[in-house]
Amino acid sequence: MARSPFYRILLFAWIVVLLMDGVHASDGDADPIYKACVEQCEKTGCVGGKCFQHCKFLSDGKPEGGPWYLQEPLYLQWKQWDCRSDCRYHCMLTREEEREKLGGKPVKYHGKWLFRRAYSFQEPVSVALSALNLAIQFHGWVSFFILIYYKLPLTPSKKNYYEYTGLWNIYGILSMNSWFWSAVFHSRDVELTEKLHFSSAVALLGFSLILAILRAFSVRNEASRVMVSTPVIAFVTTHILYLNCYNLDYGLNIKVCVAMGVAQLLIWAVWAGVTHHPSWSKLWVAVVGGGLAMLLEIYDFPPYHRFVDAHALWHATTIPLTYLWWSFAKDDAEFRTSSLHKKAK
Ligand SMILES: [Zn+2]
Repeated sequence: MARSPFYRILLFAWIVVLLMDGVHASDGDADPIYKACVEQCEKTGCVGGKCFQHCKFLSDGKPEGGPWYLQEPLYLQWKQWDCRSDCRYHCMLTREEEREKLGGKPVKYHGKWLFRRAYSFQEPVSVALSALNLAIQFHGWVSFFILIYYKLPLTPSKKNYYEYTGLWNIYGILSMNSWFWSAVFHSRDVELTEKLHFSSAVALLGFSLILAILRAFSVRNEASRVMVSTPVIAFVTTHILYLNCYNLDYGLNIKVCVAMGVAQLLIWAVWAGVTHHPSWSKLWVAVVGGGLAMLLEIYDFPPYHRFVDAHALWHATTIPLTYLWWSFAKDDAEFRTSSLHKKAK
């Protein structure tokens, strides 16, 4: 019977996704003036009065000299990406300024709003916040590690009592990996960095869903853990392969991420309420905060002064939530360890 609330939660998550109709494709990149501008720029390397070095390769062919690792094809590929990214950026700037003069509202290009670059960072605010998130994740994970291995009692065979240590460790590594690629992606978005960012974020969300299910349903047996996580891993792998090899569909990806996000928030919330976990209040604050933060990802608005958008704010809200989340993980470890340690005595 333990299965029925779980399926109800999944069903609810699915309904939320179906109701989410605010996600549509961007229209800026369908604009013929913008398209022509990018096409022209990739040929000539210039937009308006600005010309880019990276686009030179198209006219002179092979790159000159340099160490072997900078020779084609990697070097050429990178140049091509850089050229396209610069062309798009300057064409977007020109087009948005034209539209603004005519009283038009900002539109999205390639699924994203236009940001003003600072130095060579494409979205400086999101880069800084991603780096901060990475630091907080690292701090949380290290303090969890120290608690488990150095502060809490160990079994006579020098193992820790807490049964979810391995899962939290993997979670910590996946989150740090995800924030690292998030910072890289927001620095310069090209196809490769985008795919790495999306894939690592989906992997993290998928794994945290597994963590939520295993913890909430107290799945401690190895075989049951494999049985529960296999379908989630299969689904997440298929989704990542689909995004990378077939179609990088933003709308679909947001829906998949929101579905996995909503499912785990509901699992944690229901579990905290039902089990009267000693740290239930932390869990609830994290769940409500996580839910509100998710709204920022769904109902995004154009960046304020082309700098701060809903996505950047979302990265800001995840900083206190991450801190709280690791604090919950540590409480849970202490709580389980003390009850198991008492039993063992
Ligand atoms: Zn981001």
